[in-house]
Amino acid sequence: MNKEKFFQLVEKYHAPAGRYNYYPRISQWEDNLTYEQWYAQVHEDEDSLDLYFHIPFCDKFCHFCGCNIKVNQPEQIKQKYLEKMVKEWKSYDLSASKIKNIFFGGGTPNSLSLEHYKWLFEEIGIDKDQCDISIEADPRKLDFKLIQLLRDYGLSSISFGVQDFDQDVLDIIGRPTDLDKLRSNLIQLKEYKIEHTSIDLLYGLPLQNKESLSFLREILKEKLINSASLYPFANVPWFQDFYPLWTEHKPDFKEKYGHYFEIITLLEEFDILPISFGHFAHKSSRHYRSFLAGSLRRNIMGHTLEKSPILVGLGVSAISSTAKALKQNSKIFENYMFQDISFDRSHLRSSRESKMEKIFEELSTRNTTIKTGGDLEELIHDGLICSDAQKGHIQITPLGRHFVQHIARFLEKSL
Ligand code: SF4
Repeated sequence: MNKEKFFQLVEKYHAPAGRYNYYPRISQWEDNLTYEQWYAQVHEDEDSLDLYFHIPFCDKFCHFCGCNIKVNQPEQIKQKYLEKMVKEWKSYDLSASKIKNIFFGGGTPNSLSLEHYKWLFEEIGIDKDQCDISIEADPRKLDFKLIQLLRDYGLSSISFGVQDFDQDVLDIIGRPTDLDKLRSNLIQLKEYKIEHTSIDLLYGLPLQNKESLSFLREILKEKLINSASLYPFANVPWFQDFYPLWTEHKPDFKEKYGHYFEIITLLEEFDILPISFGHFAHKSSRHYRSFLAGSLRRNIMGHTLEKSPILVGLGVSAISSTAKALKQNSKIFENYMFQDISFDRSHLRSSRESKMEKIFEELSTRNTTIKTGGDLEELIHDGLICSDAQKGHIQITPLGRHFVQHIARFLEKSL
């Protein structure tokens, strides 16, 4: 990719934009559903469903973290929380539905023990190899007995929050990491043959530098991962008083996107290619092949090979979705634990919003043409999309894959 052209476009399109993992974003929700209406929505199409468990526990707080987490909690609290999630699940009365996918996110899902997961699977009624399991995990503390258990139950995707590979950068953001241990964990993990092994990296971190990428090169050479996600570091104003060094060592715009460019060039060298804004998969992976074939899907949790019409989110702050509706649980741990029914925010999509949701999902999962409509001359001129022979259809160019979020924002305004 031409670096100069990339920078011109980053400068032009750079503006805050949502990640469009669901639509509309929560700030636009109208709270126009009662709990009874939400319950009816969930039961409208109950053939199969996906489950999301939000695990809010972490051993330590990373200073940049914007998640709603509970640090260093005793085992009894974790067990009580699991019991509450099981109670929430049972309140839906959906035990006859087929569960296709289970997602564990957080927080740190691997802060729970093997016994916690055994108990949870039994209570939910999940058998071994019954569904596809995806988990977000802290790679600094992998319990391989837990990995084996999850593997037996269908673990096919694991994504590790790594953030960077430079000791000074990791220290300054409050996420000290033993990189040798991290690497040996990734090596050991290979034995479990998990289909999709991904790392999350941040760009725009204080002190970030090109040298740390030599570590990334090593793990790519050793084929320890086959996927990656990149996220911009948000040095929000309220951090400034707490972490003055972040401001002192803040990279400028060119350095920030220069780092992004270095990473994507390196990933490309090892055939890990963009699917959507910030998401990359190896060209031999099932995710990438589904992307080429136009059959990859996306839900609130990210890309997935198959998707059910309903995602039931369990736990504090968890978001659930159906074809027409969205719902969020309470974001306050204590409220979630003590409320009979956690129903904090909701939204029933208008027909325009349902159409946008469909278009945005296709934008971020397909290499095939997409029917959009609208005047998109500017995007064509900038080389982000090409218009198909069929009027009103577009295809995103390889360059445009890095700007999907911005294409979505453009469409949101123009359609
Ligand atoms: S491990 Fe992840 S969720 Fe937990 S504090 Fe660190 S960044 Fe936040």
